[in-house]
Amino acid sequence: MIYRDIIAAIATAQGRGGIGVIRISGPHLAQFAAGLTPRTFEARRALLTTFLDVTGQPLDEGLLLFFAAPHSYTGEDVIELQGHGGPVVMHQLLQRCLELGARLARPGEFTERAYLNGRMDLAQAEGVADLIEASTALAARAALRSLQGDFSELIQQLTNKTIALRTLLEATLDFPEEEVEFLTAGRAQQQLSAVREQLDATLAATRQGSLLRDGIQAVLIGEPNVGKSSLLNRLAGEEVAIVTEVPGTTRDAVREQIDIDGMPVHIIDTAGLRETTDAVERIGINRTWAMIEKADLALLVSDAGGENDGANRAIIDRLPVGLARIRVKNKIDLTQRKPGRETVGNEEQVWVSAKTGAGLELLKQAIWVQAGWHPSGEGVFTARTRHIEALQTAQCHLATAAGLTDRLELYAEELRLAHEALGGITGEYTPDDLLGEIFSKFCIGK
Ligand code: GDP
Repeated sequence: MIYRDIIAAIATAQGRGGIGVIRISGPHLAQFAAGLTPRTFEARRALLTTFLDVTGQPLDEGLLLFFAAPHSYTGEDVIELQGHGGPVVMHQLLQRCLELGARLARPGEFTERAYLNGRMDLAQAEGVADLIEASTALAARAALRSLQGDFSELIQQLTNKTIALRTLLEATLDFPEEEVEFLTAGRAQQQLSAVREQLDATLAATRQGSLLRDGIQAVLIGEPNVGKSSLLNRLAGEEVAIVTEVPGTTRDAVREQIDIDGMPVHIIDTAGLRETTDAVERIGINRTWAMIEKADLALLVSDAGGENDGANRAIIDRLPVGLARIRVKNKIDLTQRKPGRETVGNEEQVWVSAKTGAGLELLKQAIWVQAGWHPSGEGVFTARTRHIEALQTAQCHLATAAGLTDRLELYAEELRLAHEALGGITGEYTPDDLLGEIFSKFCIGK
């Protein structure tokens, strides 16, 4: 696809830096760049030059890099200007590009063009954004795998198998006398179960990828003064929450992101849950309940030495059904208890001391088990909720197909819908508004 307009943006982060990069993409950039440099240049060869303003006066001195279409990031002509990384210089250079006929790029527009020009598929384009946003080293590695096409490759395999099955089926529909053979020989059903098995495995890997990208939301809850803030500080490794001996100190939520074996965990320290007449504290407590509703995991903290069973039971009874939870028995340094992790009934209990750090590793283990995270992490790619949903849709259609062996037209339709769901992941079938939403979350200049 050829675009008539030229887009430009500052591709480096805001602020001062050694170098700043302006990125330009569009048709006929050699002509365009004649307004920036008096020198001629070749593709893929750095040219040290002065960048000129409209009157021919120098604006900056730096490198010009030219990538001729289609061998560039976007598949169009691309120029990168590497100038001095000060905000004024960068804006003057960008302004000059606009004077020469470029327009300001929208967020993610370079990558969008790369996708529309077939330089990468949609899952890879999302990998680009995930790599930039990655909050742990493991998430960054996984995003790189998505960007390099590992995830797309799995989806492609599933798509190819679905297509093979559709082809087999269409042939059967065209030659009805062979219909019986199609089913009795069991070829179709066998192939279908093979696709379904592979889809299940891909879905499991995709869930891991999505966990790695988005992490989980955990809330620290419990009565005042049981050590929630101290535990958050321990887990985060720094003083983020205020720790005091006065019950009811954490009146509003403190959020911290920690990295447990490469999985981001967003932990929220909440106001202690107790009956109170203090109006401000009550607001904090109401907010806590609102946050609990949205969380993936509740860490219910109590004092191992002096449990208030009634109060804890009241909190547990109010927790949303199905919310994963861990009972954290804190302050074991004041008791004879050793650190430990055990399952009592269907409740996971961990014995720790926020003060000494004893049992903290066990708590981290319990958190990733509850989150469904497998810490080996190798071979994981990043994925998004949208990918999980598409795979689940495909899974549903394939399951329905399996039960329709006596209605081949319907069987064929279910296969078509599964194929379409898979195609949505890589962008084969993706509505424009979804594309707009995906790319709008990118940074400008990417
Ligand atoms: P929160 O109200 O539940 O957030 O509790 P804090 O974290 O503010 O702690 C309340 C008090 O308990 C503070 O004096 C902490 O120093 C103390 N504390 C917290 N954890 C431990 C622990 O593991 N052992 C002991 N001995 N004291 C603790």
